[in-house]
Amino acid sequence: MIIVMQKGASQEALAEVEKKIVELGYQPHVIHGETRNVVGAVGDERGKEKLQALESLPGVERVVPILKPYKLASREVQPQPSAIEIAPGLAIGGKEFIVVAGPCAVESREQICETAVAVKKSGARLLRGGAYKPRTSPYSFQGMEEDGLKLLAEARELTGLPIVTEVVNPRDVELVAKYADIMQVGARNTQNFALLKMLGQLDKPILLKRGMAVTIQEFLMSAEYILSEGNRKVILCERGIRTFETATRNTLDISAVPVLKQHTHLPVMIDPSHATGHAHLVAPMCYAAAAAGADGLLVEVHPCPEKATSDGPQSLRPAEFQEMMDKLRAFAQVAGREMAG
Ligand code: PEP
Ligand code: MN
Repeated sequence: MIIVMQKGASQEALAEVEKKIVELGYQPHVIHGETRNVVGAVGDERGKEKLQALESLPGVERVVPILKPYKLASREVQPQPSAIEIAPGLAIGGKEFIVVAGPCAVESREQICETAVAVKKSGARLLRGGAYKPRTSPYSFQGMEEDGLKLLAEARELTGLPIVTEVVNPRDVELVAKYADIMQVGARNTQNFALLKMLGQLDKPILLKRGMAVTIQEFLMSAEYILSEGNRKVILCERGIRTFETATRNTLDISAVPVLKQHTHLPVMIDPSHATGHAHLVAPMCYAAAAAGADGLLVEVHPCPEKATSDGPQSLRPAEFQEMMDKLRAFAQVAGREMAG
């Protein structure tokens, strides 16, 4: 249920509503709006009608059901878009179109530092790099683990770029959280509900990728797992879904951007690298993502793609990344966004 407070309702009235929600066995989530506050009351769907009685409390305008199965992720609870602050002056979901770039996997100090310096120069605002890799084959490179996290921290120190890195296993959440500025949940873990619940207990932004066979509604339900545990900092990322097409690694569902924007206030990013699987297809999908209204991109860049331990064929060289970034600016501007630099 959504408890809509009257314009100018007092803090005491709001506190009383929150208290009553808890007494009825639900969790209150206050959304501070520009003109009025609303309180989402979430919990057991059975018996939620008893929340209707809150309508008689002072300061309450009305109590309405949330129609969508995802509650805190929905525009019904929060009509205005969420801008998720990553660092002072850096938010995802605001006016700025944000590009995250870096290699698929951290491989060495030279590799991650060289990439970090290059992508920063071209206008990337965050550095990506996997230290724990969810590989299809157990015989493929699995990542440098904590040594990789340490190298990411060095690259952050060197460039000032915050880092995005994936956590694959719930037992690594605490360790990865010590290093990461944004924790990534990969496509293979979109519906790992135990992992999502743990991430929901952190006070750290989570980049949640869409699974390759996950519908938009299921994707938003996964976001809801994180939100319902108390972590409001969720960023969604479309990275291609599996279809019958084999010309590309996956099929980029570009319409997921406006569909998600219609139903959720959460920021939406696009990963054109895993979506296409081919470096020459990455730039056009970057432009399409900006034009479709995405909040940013997650792009794989490697100083020497032919030597990459994973995803070399879809990785841009620094010079190709620079060229893409130069052209991207115009698309971002047409979509009403700004890019730094
Ligand atoms: C990645 O970003 O390195 C990755 C493994 O992506 P996905 O989970 O989308 O396959
Ligand atoms: Mn990859």
